Amino acid sequence: IKTIGVLTSGGDAPGMNAAIRAVVRVGISAGLKVKGIRRGYAGLLEEDIIDMTAESVSDIIQRGGTIIYTARCNEFKTPEGQQKGADILRKHNIDGLVVIGGDGSFQGAKKLAGLGINTVALPGTIDLDITCTDYTIGFDTAVNTAMEAIDKVRDTSTSHERCSIIEVMGRNAGYIALWCGIANGAEEVLITERYDHNEQAIIDNILQKKKVGKRHHIIVNAEGIGDSFGMAKRIEAATGVETRATVIGHIQRGGSPTCKDRVYASIMGAKAVDLLTEGKSNRVIGYRGGEFVDYDIDEALSMTKDVDQYVYETARRLSR
Ligand code: ADP
Repeated sequence: IKTIGVLTSGGDAPGMNAAIRAVVRVGISAGLKVKGIRRGYAGLLEEDIIDMTAESVSDIIQRGGTIIYTARCNEFKTPEGQQKGADILRKHNIDGLVVIGGDGSFQGAKKLAGLGINTVALPGTIDLDITCTDYTIGFDTAVNTAMEAIDKVRDTSTSHERCSIIEVMGRNAGYIALWCGIANGAEEVLITERYDHNEQAIIDNILQKKKVGKRHHIIVNAEGIGDSFGMAKRIEAATGVETRATVIGHIQRGGSPTCKDRVYASIMGAKAVDLLTEGKSNRVIGYRGGEFVDYDIDEALSMTKDVDQYVYETARRLSR
């Protein structure tokens, strides 16, 4: 392998820049040329490819987002698009590719591997919803951002003796909500993996907590639960407790990455280059059991994971 490329794809996540920087610097010190493919697979198909130097990744480790931009690309889901992508990579002499993104992006990396491009994927998503790993680039920053925001809402909620519903990101995965539920001492955590849509139980709980003198009531909703504003209206009508909904939104996607996200993303980026120089392909890097590991992409995509029941039960027990 002489030349490698790096791209970010799907949703952006804080720490992606640290991973890009590691790929570029470790690649260059291994004697490789490194190219940046901008705007994910969309940019690949448009040949939006730039040379990366050690200096080109200066001063980015502390920045959120991704300096090479990210995108979604439907054309790349077609065999023709994938063949075109592989041809463009060959034209630019790129024989190894690091893809930073989520499950969808891994599918693309797998297709390129099948077309003879050596690929290694890194888990980049704030949602933690990648089955082969206990850590994803961006989760730690996002969950800390959400936690700090909820602390602020809690202050005002307590002062006014209100019920607050706070919606955090996570359409299909409730990890941010669950962690905040514990970290912020929420009375309820509603996640798609467990919520049974029993709103009456929530209402009864608020009335009961009010009786014992609790001055606030925090409900953390994962985005996938939806309708936080409607829920606030219904709860207020049923309990007589003033109830407000706050959707934290994209604030959770940005910001300076935490130390953990910078360090883990850097190690994963370095490991991706090491795997490519060893001649490996169709691999995804994960963090499991306290170690950085790698799996075959097909094996990784066939794994399943669920929120830890003990963690979920603990969140519930702590809210009593
Ligand atoms: P994420 O990578 O965060 O899961 P997406 O699911 O949107 O985000 O996937 C990002 C991009 O990866 C898509 O826009 C598409 O270009 C590519 N991709 C997704 N699924 C496939 C697939 N089955 N085959 C090839 N490429 C895919």
